[in-house]
Amino acid sequence: MGMPTLTIDGKLVEFTPGQTILEVAKANGINIPTLCHLKDTTPTGACRICLVEVKGARTLVASCAMPAGNGMEVKTDTETVHVSRRLNVELLLASGNHNCLTCEKNGSCKLQSLAYAYGITDIRFKGQTQQYPAETENPLIIRDFSRCILCGRCVQACNEIQVNRAIGYGYRGAKSKIVTTGDRPYQDSDCVFCGQCVEVCPVGALTEKKAVGLGRPWETAKVRTTCPYCGVGCQMDLHVKDGKVVKVTAADGQSNKERLCVKGRFGYDFIDSPERLTTPLIKGEDGRFQEASWDEALTLVAKKFKAIKKEHGADALAGLTSARATNEENYLFQKLFRAGVGTNNVDHCARL
Ligand code: SF4
Ligand code: SF4
Ligand code: SF4
Repeated sequence: MGMPTLTIDGKLVEFTPGQTILEVAKANGINIPTLCHLKDTTPTGACRICLVEVKGARTLVASCAMPAGNGMEVKTDTETVHVSRRLNVELLLASGNHNCLTCEKNGSCKLQSLAYAYGITDIRFKGQTQQYPAETENPLIIRDFSRCILCGRCVQACNEIQVNRAIGYGYRGAKSKIVTTGDRPYQDSDCVFCGQCVEVCPVGALTEKKAVGLGRPWETAKVRTTCPYCGVGCQMDLHVKDGKVVKVTAADGQSNKERLCVKGRFGYDFIDSPERLTTPLIKGEDGRFQEASWDEALTLVAKKFKAIKKEHGADALAGLTSARATNEENYLFQKLFRAGVGTNNVDHCARL
């Protein structure tokens, strides 16, 4: 039996059972905008931006949550669809404080982009918006509830991708809010500060505190690199302005799939730290470190290794290497110890 098919914007396409309409559209080069959809997590259908027409359905359907069906006829680009999407963007804009000029997300905000695409220049709906104060106490993440559109991506990222289960929906109606257990600040909760919620937030509700004011998206260059902290090899983008790293975000690497841990995402202060060692140090007779050249340092180590080996044998020496070195460097290190020094006493910090 062949693959099931559906018609989307007049085009007959095949799909795999289990795919949603949104996934089928994407696989066939048809763009359906969405604010809440997060790849590899359970669809929530929260934002109502991905609405499409399905022949026979009484209402527009959220394509992110609707499974594709054999023989379906789907339209993604009709006036009804666009009027509804535009209205939902307007309602989201009216639901909080969306003064883009003062927002850190200006220039990379998905709500802002949709408002622009739909030519929205005024907030049509006026009403009372919720008044939760921003949470700025912890050193890494700012939570500005006045900009939260309750899309739930942070919840999905925390619970289903990182599996930290630190946040969820709290309260009801206009008082709805993303909360930790007991609605405590991040630093007093189960949050481990991986920052994945910040990574996926489509608007300015969650932002990296250290990056505030250091550069708009159009002022920074993205440089792809590998995280230096451990052997997993997560891919990341350094956001660089005037030669300085101002922010780090995850890239879609084979081993990390757009995820990072707290060290990779937030631990980049060392790059410009004045305390970094820039030259080898040798402890002098008086017990104080003196700057030395690499030749001097390596000659001293070789001399001491030889003396220990001569007096106690090669197994009196051991080498411990690091996951921060590359595979190639670690290979050379063990070779140095096995073939050069003559001992198998070699180990690695990442071995469990
Ligand atoms: S969250 Fe987006 S739409 Fe709202 S103020 Fe910030 S940039 Fe503007
Ligand atoms: S920083 Fe990580 S653990 Fe904390 S709420 Fe966000 S996703 Fe969850
Ligand atoms: S904090 Fe961001 S990701 Fe979380 S619900 Fe609000 S807008 Fe969505």
